[in-house]
Amino acid sequence: MKATMEHFTNPIADFFKSTNKAVIYIEFSIFGSLLVFVAVFLYFFYFKSKKIEPEEEHHKEKNQEKILPIKTEKKSTKSINKYLDLHLHLDGAITKEIAIKLAKIQNIELPTNNEEELENLLSVRPDCESLNDFLKCFALPLSLMQTPLGLSEAIKLVANNIQSHGVIYAEFRFAPQLHKKGGMTQEQAVRAALEGIKKTSLKVNLILCFMRGDDNQAENEETLRLARKYLVPDGGVVAVDLAGAEAIYKTANYRDLFRRVREYGIPFTIHAGEADGAQSVRDAISFGAKRIGHGVRAFEDPEVVELIREKGITLEMCPTSNKQTHALANMAHFPLMDFLNKGIKVTLNTDDMGISRTNIIEEYNYIETNFGLNYEQKKTMILNSVNSAFTTGTIKRQLLIKFGF
Ligand SMILES: [Zn+2]
Repeated sequence: MKATMEHFTNPIADFFKSTNKAVIYIEFSIFGSLLVFVAVFLYFFYFKSKKIEPEEEHHKEKNQEKILPIKTEKKSTKSINKYLDLHLHLDGAITKEIAIKLAKIQNIELPTNNEEELENLLSVRPDCESLNDFLKCFALPLSLMQTPLGLSEAIKLVANNIQSHGVIYAEFRFAPQLHKKGGMTQEQAVRAALEGIKKTSLKVNLILCFMRGDDNQAENEETLRLARKYLVPDGGVVAVDLAGAEAIYKTANYRDLFRRVREYGIPFTIHAGEADGAQSVRDAISFGAKRIGHGVRAFEDPEVVELIREKGITLEMCPTSNKQTHALANMAHFPLMDFLNKGIKVTLNTDDMGISRTNIIEEYNYIETNFGLNYEQKKTMILNSVNSAFTTGTIKRQLLIKFGF
């Protein structure tokens, strides 16, 4: 093997043997200079340009950091498409379609066969001046719910309607004393409503309303008796409320009624600070209310706002309804965002979706468009609704799972 290797020629050795050392030095110097030149060229035209790119990218990322949350929020806001509605009046939720169905199954003749005219009769007129005017709109829908069939079907149809808007949990409120014109007792009305919630796949609980007035004390007493009798933690009558003409019949007049509601351990909410001012809210809070229907006019007294925050009271806000009843002189001052930023437990609801021609999606759109409600704020409001719902911890946990929060 060794002998064979010696026969191979070595090209480097041959090169040195045949070339003058000085010439080699010069050639290497030229070659070296060329290398330096190429390196400098590459640095300026290649590496430097490469170095700029990441900087630009970094810049872009920086810009995106500013833009992204807005884009993400907008996208995500729309991506919350499930809702709760804690403040929904059954008689205020009768749409034109539901009214036609209720009339048909009960052989009731509607005041008109013209659908547009019917819709005008069922919904608030643009010239509505106050809550008292607004309350007059309830006559026709109520006339369709004076039999057990009419009442239970109304609950089913309203539930199915709001389910199509993404509502996964709702509390329907109604005053049993307003369903006696067809001969039902308050108790039959409550039973019919309980039948109604069995006819729908939507999770619905019931709130029985007392009515403000000067000649219905006995009726309110009966409602209280029924609330006590039928009260369940979930799946039926879960709470009571006080509804009606708040500015005329002051909240303070109902102190004794709510003293007994508390004694009986019945959860409750009270319409306050809607047609009447902040004092109405203060009175409701002094009764022990953990939830307030509307409460929008609390903003008139910073002390009441602070009281709501301090006591962790939930506000069931309903902007479209407030706009139509002129609860505020100027809706630009609607205090929802201010309340929310203060840490008050604000929720968003429809109140009277049939009369107001709205739905829960529209209510959120209104706040998003006019007040810049973002994803996190919307999520907070939904969580407020879940936490303050008149239901069990188990149902609340199930709701949270459905939202994926
Ligand atoms: Zn209401």
